[in-house]
Amino acid sequence: MDCNFVNISDLNQYIYCPRRLYYLMFYNTQGINYYLVDGRSKHAHQSRRGGWYREMYLRSDKLHLHGRIDLLEGKTTLTPVERKHGSSYYDNDEIQLAAYCMLLEDYLDEPVRMGYIYLFGTNERYAITITDWHREKVLEITEAIRKMNLYTIPDFASNPNKCKKCSVVQYCMPYETRLLEARK
Ligand code: SF4
Repeated sequence: MDCNFVNISDLNQYIYCPRRLYYLMFYNTQGINYYLVDGRSKHAHQSRRGGWYREMYLRSDKLHLHGRIDLLEGKTTLTPVERKHGSSYYDNDEIQLAAYCMLLEDYLDEPVRMGYIYLFGTNERYAITITDWHREKVLEITEAIRKMNLYTIPDFASNPNKCKKCSVVQYCMPYETRLLEARK
């Protein structure tokens, strides 16, 4: 697939499980499960709080990325804020935030060296310094997503616990496949 522009939210999906992104991309399986519904409703509610909500859609030819930054903080120095519905955050959330920082950096043509992750679950905000490691990961994963194609299905997630919360589990069928493989 010649995927010129990768949606930044897909980086997070890919890190969670490349196979999940495969189904979302090629089979239009926008399955809705509890975890997605819960996250979306909190997002919508939070977005109506007055005063600190501004969104900005950006696209970068150089990075092959596009995405909507939900919230930007600051008047002279803009800092992206990525909001999550849990009580903790992970590397994939940091990488997603880094991608927004890089997108903003490209748009402003000036360095964006940090962003925030805000957790609905704890009402806490964490300052994240964007390192070379984050930047390299963003570029590496963007490239991997651009190379994805219909005929190459990624492996199952190495951690089966991820499947319990996955909205495409009914298409992917990890349990059934493992059962059949065990019987061979
Ligand atoms: S069910 Fe598991 S292996 Fe399949 S896409 Fe979801 S997380 Fe990946």
